[in-house]
Amino acid sequence: MKKKQKKMLTRIIISAAMLVALNFIPVTGWLRMLLYMIAYLIIGYDILLKAGKGILNGQVFDENFLMAIATVGAIALALYEKSGDYNEAIAVMLFYQIGELFQSYAVGKSRKNISALMDIRPDYANIERGGVLEKVDPDEVGIGSIIVVQPGEKVPIDGFIIEGTSSLNTSALTGESLPREAGAGDEIISGCINMTGVLKIQTTKEFGESTVSRILELVEESSSRKSKSENFISKFAKVYTPAVCIAALLLAVLPPAINLMMGSPAGWDNWIYRALIFLVISCPCALVISIPLSFFAGIGGASKEGILIKGSNYMETLSKTKVVVFDKTGTLTQGVFAVSGIHHSQMDDTKLLEYAALAECASSHPISKSLQKAYGKEIDRNRVTNIEEISGHGLTAIVDGTAVAVGNTKLMEQLGIPYENCHSVGTVIHIAVDHAYAGHIVISDIEKPNAKEAIAALKKAGVEKTVMLTGDAKRVAEKVASELGVNEVHSELLPADKVTEVEKLLKTKAPKAKLAFVGDGINDAPVLSRADIGIAMGAMGSDAAIEAADVVLMDDDPMKIAKGIKISRKCLSIVYQNIIFALVIKFACLGLGALGIANMWFAIFADVGVMVIAVLNAIRALRVHNL
Ligand code: ADP
Ligand code: MG
Repeated sequence: MKKKQKKMLTRIIISAAMLVALNFIPVTGWLRMLLYMIAYLIIGYDILLKAGKGILNGQVFDENFLMAIATVGAIALALYEKSGDYNEAIAVMLFYQIGELFQSYAVGKSRKNISALMDIRPDYANIERGGVLEKVDPDEVGIGSIIVVQPGEKVPIDGFIIEGTSSLNTSALTGESLPREAGAGDEIISGCINMTGVLKIQTTKEFGESTVSRILELVEESSSRKSKSENFISKFAKVYTPAVCIAALLLAVLPPAINLMMGSPAGWDNWIYRALIFLVISCPCALVISIPLSFFAGIGGASKEGILIKGSNYMETLSKTKVVVFDKTGTLTQGVFAVSGIHHSQMDDTKLLEYAALAECASSHPISKSLQKAYGKEIDRNRVTNIEEISGHGLTAIVDGTAVAVGNTKLMEQLGIPYENCHSVGTVIHIAVDHAYAGHIVISDIEKPNAKEAIAALKKAGVEKTVMLTGDAKRVAEKVASELGVNEVHSELLPADKVTEVEKLLKTKAPKAKLAFVGDGINDAPVLSRADIGIAMGAMGSDAAIEAADVVLMDDDPMKIAKGIKISRKCLSIVYQNIIFALVIKFACLGLGALGIANMWFAIFADVGVMVIAVLNAIRALRVHNL
């Protein structure tokens, strides 16, 4: 419990004790009044101050104002009636403060839980100087520096391992609890925990650009992106509070005025009392607090599973997803191609592979990585210049002074180089050297082990249509699609064609149904942003993906898509439950208050009770592990 909360608890106890005692001590007159006022001020002074400040700042109608006017009114009424019954005013404040305390405790606790989940921020980086390790601020480490990460420490900055092997715990990033093995040459991203060996890492980014920093930024920003439901609540509160105040005023004034006109006694105190009860009941805090908290808990729960949702608006859209469009390479397939044949080579096969690998040295496309891996030797980047990547086609470069082109048939056609067709099923990479056809390399990708299950899981989660888009050849595309059970497939698309396809799909779907595009962020940033909701996977490597997507899956497990949708559905259903629950109870109580059936005790119980239940319900959104 925080200091502030402890102080509040003390105030509650003192004031409550005084209230009970005063009902047994036979003091009367001014002394009695004074003692009651002390108890009232102990529990309520801050509310009165805030209400006063609100009035001065022109923001009159908030819950502090409601509480202040209701309790001050109750005291005034007691004075007027000379009843000396100040119990109600104090009790209302007491319960209100107990509710507030509970709420700040619960909200604080769930915020803490969520930040603990996101506890990936490294405090320092180790740099070796003269044989000793020195701890430095990760912000001060430049690109290309060598840092040392010892067992038990977090990797502070992205880079690659130059020495050592270890298992890495990536659970804070991906929700995946199995450790990952890594050794010299492997890329490593910040936020993992080094478990076993000492690693020397050469950094490839600055701290501010590293995965950890970007994720934290993203999570921090997520709370500022408001969903429709949240906007509804804040608009609602703006209209609601003044409306209730006016209603209360009318309730206090109109009936007595009518009574007077009819010639009967006005009954001012009765109606003012009802108006005050009305005000206490009307406090909208259950909604104002529980809705953002539900979203916050949902986003936190999802991030624990390695699903980063960039804002509650996306949470809302995701929950309505009915069409899921996939990129193929790296999304449904592993994006790790193995060479399955080299045909029509005009030179030694290894020489052809060497040209391809060298030309590809700077690309981050999965094909490029696979060709470099198949080549297997160290690549001397100095031999390559003028690299030009043409998305959806391939690339051109100058290798050892000779023009080299590596890509698909579209690229060859564009360059006007006649090529040989290939008869084996696979992704065919044509190569031209010095403007003449030099042969092709057939590579093939494998589907992700759970891609098929992931498609099935989506259907089970209520997704009506799955579509695969790819720049790859038709035969490969159709084979993958039918093996995975995807409903629709479009192949040989350029990145721009993918946007067109998605636009067509957006037009044909039902207006309320939402379309999600899932890609790896390579070549598909335009589609990611065009879809109702863009989901990037395997984001631990690609910056473009983190940037362009609305939802980021930290690892490349396609099962996470269905999981994300289920999490968002749960979160949204909690939000709706809270809205409906709070409003129904509120309006029912307001009715009872106006009819004079509810007294102030009832009012405060209804208010605090609804708030407590709504907050507890909101916290449920955090529990998503078993969805
Ligand atoms: P996908 O839809 O499968 O993700 P892309 O749009 O990234 O495909 O690429 C489509 C096609 O363009 C690939 O199948 C390949 O033939 C060619 N291509 C793209 N980038 C490269 C590259 N770096 N090297 C060779 N070919 C490439
Ligand atoms: Mg792609």
